[in-house]
Amino acid sequence: MAKKKAASVRDSLRVRPGAGIHLSPRDTPVGPASKSDAAESLAETGTRLAAVQEALWAEGVFGGGTRSVLLVLQGMDTSGKGGTIDHVCGLVNPQGLRIASFKKPTRAELRHDFLWRIRKQVPPPGYVGVFDRSHYEDVLVVRVESLVPEEIWSARYDQINDFEAELAAAGTTVVKCFLHISPEEQKSRLVARLEDPQKQWKYNPGDIQARSKWSAYQQAYDAALARCSTEAAPWYVIPADRKWYRNWAVANILLETLTELDPQLPKPDYDVAAELARLNEADPLS
Ligand code: AMP
Ligand code: MG
Repeated sequence: MAKKKAASVRDSLRVRPGAGIHLSPRDTPVGPASKSDAAESLAETGTRLAAVQEALWAEGVFGGGTRSVLLVLQGMDTSGKGGTIDHVCGLVNPQGLRIASFKKPTRAELRHDFLWRIRKQVPPPGYVGVFDRSHYEDVLVVRVESLVPEEIWSARYDQINDFEAELAAAGTTVVKCFLHISPEEQKSRLVARLEDPQKQWKYNPGDIQARSKWSAYQQAYDAALARCSTEAAPWYVIPADRKWYRNWAVANILLETLTELDPQLPKPDYDVAAELARLNEADPLS
């Protein structure tokens, strides 16, 4: 009997153009079904991810390469954007990372187009950029809270698609992950933040305001995923009620993405054998 080909993590979690949120917060459509299996698998993924990320960095920083990767993390409060940066990005060499988080825009930022502050953080060649929130806030919180008129925010889906296609054409592979949690899980994480003095700093009284508009946010996410999951820059739904599944899924999406890019270590621009001979024969210290 032919061995069944393992499903690609990206294929299982990717949002087809036009479709919205297609998975639930506790689904495991691919990969490990238990925490212990996930831990073992994540360790192996981490080793491979570190190697291929180092190759991307070497290619871009030392080899004249032009490619980079941009991981966009979006999700409701407590969905694990910070935890993903800690546990997934923590698997690779921090020298090759560019992490940016996007808060409520400053007055200076508001004087510009919504993509202005985003463009400044696009990762240069060789880097894996990580966005903790992103330009999608401009069709999420901005839409739910009516921070600008509908005609402004509704035009942004196409503007975002154009922007991301431009990034892809310039060599930045865009990977967008929606960390999908349930309202029940959010409540238990918010309670945990309030009850643990070590976590109280993570809590913001405004989180309850966003929570009270849960279904409006889910609709806004659904629209963003449906309209902006493109060939050039796909969205992935990450079932995120269980942190071990979330970390495993994001790490493997990154691994598949980087492996497909197949970054090349720069070839030495010197004669290796000649250099070894020089060291052995004419080492000034021996
Ligand atoms: P946090 O990521 O929990 O530290 O919170 C950042 C806050 O900034 C969230 O409430 C976001 O919704 C908000 N935010 C980020 N970008 C924007 C934006 N473009 N317009 C309005 N609020 C934003
Ligand atoms: Mg917060």
